[in-house]
Amino acid sequence: MKTDFKKSSALRKNTKAIHAGSVEHSIYGEISVPIFQSSTFVFPSAADGAARFSGEQSGYIYTRLGNPTVNALEESIAALEGGFAGIATSTGMAAVGIVFLALLNQGDHIVATNCIYGASRVMLEKELTRFGVRSSFVDTSDFSGIERALLPETRMIFVESPMNPSMKITDLRAVGRIAAKHKILYTVDNTFAGPYLQRPIEMGADIVINSLTKFLNGHSDVIGGMIVTAGEELYKKIRRVSQVFGTTMDPHQAWLILRGVRTMPLRVERAQENAMKLARFLESHPKVSWVSYPGLAGHPQHRIAKKQMDGFGSMISFGVAGGIESGITVMNNVRLIKLAVSLGGVESLIEHPASMTHASIPRQQREEAGILDELVRLSVGCEDYEDIRDDLNQALNEIREPKALKPKPADGRQNRRPTRR
Ligand SMILES: *Cc1c(COP(=O)(O)O)cnc(C)c1O
Repeated sequence: MKTDFKKSSALRKNTKAIHAGSVEHSIYGEISVPIFQSSTFVFPSAADGAARFSGEQSGYIYTRLGNPTVNALEESIAALEGGFAGIATSTGMAAVGIVFLALLNQGDHIVATNCIYGASRVMLEKELTRFGVRSSFVDTSDFSGIERALLPETRMIFVESPMNPSMKITDLRAVGRIAAKHKILYTVDNTFAGPYLQRPIEMGADIVINSLTKFLNGHSDVIGGMIVTAGEELYKKIRRVSQVFGTTMDPHQAWLILRGVRTMPLRVERAQENAMKLARFLESHPKVSWVSYPGLAGHPQHRIAKKQMDGFGSMISFGVAGGIESGITVMNNVRLIKLAVSLGGVESLIEHPASMTHASIPRQQREEAGILDELVRLSVGCEDYEDIRDDLNQALNEIREPKALKPKPADGRQNRRPTRR
């Protein structure tokens, strides 16, 4: 088969990351996409201005409606996800919000993964309910639960896999079949894997969301979001709403993220190589009670992960013996690894979901979603494996022997294991 170098869809994924998303060279022949830092664009004539507004002529009008630098990033991520086109947004949450605003009406119902990004859950439960949109949350790693939760007014299935922070996996193809059978929109938040490792559109998704803040930008310095649709109709609908609500990305922001995307495959490969080694190390550590990483053979959905992902990524969650107190000890004693939320950057980060990212979710709902008090989330970076390991090891060894710890609660909750090793 001959490669059509002009068509990014014909290229392989490393090449796409480097070449997809570009603009015509100016007279200078620049390699990098320029930053078109302009809020508005000159029309050659009144007739051209009218033709651009009516859509008869392509060309830029005003940056909230479209910008060449932002468009280059949209093309890049759409090519990586294998979709029709992309819509860049100011943040990942703007992408989540615009998908809901564009596609749901009063009275509609969503079935969502119970272990989704904290702010997405708050949006569904506290904000969309004000507009008469209701949601049910189910553990989508058992996809039979989805069909049971469907109502006549269900309009969308919203899935996150791997789940944050339990690292459970949902069978994305199986959910695609359910959505197709019931003619329901199927949206996947792909942030925890990213298009280099997982492409939900190939598995039946209609819409894919990425927080570009994470793996795609990868340098913990810019926020951004992207919606990619499988087809043109959804693209037009969502684009229109994004323009009207003004969730557009800024050209300088787009330029920085595109710069990150060019080296994304190298970062993802390196980080997941570190993560696999660290998961094995943690599994054998006496102070660690359980490890959830899709790459471990003992992970409950290891086989599904292997089937639908090109790699297992670099997010690990684990429980520390002694529960919450021990988790705090680890977080307060790491030196190289930084205590911070977010993920997917070149540096390793550690956080405690129950008291930080997922603290706004009531405890019972948290526990149903597998977010136990003892769970520590680790975003593995691109440092030398031995340095991350040694830092974690010394922090874990700061945990005192179990008998010196405070008594555990009578219900013994903190010792429950969400996954078997
Ligand atoms: C970070 C994140 C978001 C939100 O993205 P922002 O860029 O922070 O707005 C949404 N979903 C998931 C899974 C995330 O990790």
